[in-house]
Amino acid sequence: MSILLVSRGRDVSPWIDAIQSERPDLEVRVYPDTAPKEDITFAISWNHPLGVFKEFPNLKCIASMGAGVDHILKDPELPENVVITRVTDEHLTNDMATFTTAVVLNYMRGLSAYKAAENESHWQPKPYLRQRDFTVGVMGMGVLGAEAAMQLKKLGFSVQGWAKSHKNIEAIPVYAGADELDYFLATSHVLICLLPLTPETANILNKTTFEKLPEGAYVINVARGEHLVEEDLLEMLDKGQLAGASLDVFRTEPLPKEHPFWEHPKIDVTPHIASVTNPASAAKQILQNYDRLTMGEPLINIVSRTKGY
Ligand code: NDP
Repeated sequence: MSILLVSRGRDVSPWIDAIQSERPDLEVRVYPDTAPKEDITFAISWNHPLGVFKEFPNLKCIASMGAGVDHILKDPELPENVVITRVTDEHLTNDMATFTTAVVLNYMRGLSAYKAAENESHWQPKPYLRQRDFTVGVMGMGVLGAEAAMQLKKLGFSVQGWAKSHKNIEAIPVYAGADELDYFLATSHVLICLLPLTPETANILNKTTFEKLPEGAYVINVARGEHLVEEDLLEMLDKGQLAGASLDVFRTEPLPKEHPFWEHPKIDVTPHIASVTNPASAAKQILQNYDRLTMGEPLINIVSRTKGY
């Protein structure tokens, strides 16, 4: 009985500890190793070397270490019949909601500007916004987006969402599809991106999108770096169409030292920490799926390979 961990650039030792403390009977293998590849039916993965999964002829399931699965689905050599699952976890969901709330509050009270003033010992009170002054629009009303929207709503913000399909969430209008995107954008002063990365959503944070927002809008990207066209953001900030941006995810991570986002006075950068998977709690649900697979039962948290999320 063994499970394979496959990851590039992520320390897998917390995952080994979490799996072994739950299931001491399971052998945890880390790719690459020399043990027989035929033994592996279940892999847990983050950012795997592309093409590796075709080496495992009996692989049935790949579990993402996080909520996103773009890092798995982008592999052109992914074996066809393998089921992909992801993590949905109350910690992950709440952490994302507290992060996005913190960024919206920071924007509302202009706190980042005070940090810059403090560095120059400059005492300058500024006017600030209140909840009723603006509407927050959340792109992607799935597990993370819906909770982020609901936590903001509870704090008295006007909140709306945009998804592929309509939703029935109390006091939060949710617009759907391309037809309703323009209205959603035109009425969102703060735009939070919590979409999965798919061919349809890649580059969605672009000049055309930004121009449809109210002048002086604020953009928060906590989804994936590939959602954002970086040069379009810089242009819209320079023109004043956007007042600022808070970015947690980037096309290249870590964000290279020479990248213009670091020094930009209107951009706040965080190092992909909006919501970090806790291996101890994620391993429990991933192991449930391992057991289900072994017993021939239906898996949970399955991703649609056609939809891409
Ligand atoms: P879900 O799959 O639960 O939700 C996705 C949402 O996006 C759904 O509401 C879906 O609509 C909507 N959507 C998908 N495609 C489109 C489209 N083409 N047009 C409009 N709406 C669309 O994802 P999660 O909420 O769990 O996670 C979202 C993303 O957050 C992850 O994929 C990951 O990339 C990112 N993430 C970032 C983290 C960080 O630390 N920065 C941590 C964890 C995740 P519908 O409901 O109608 O299907």
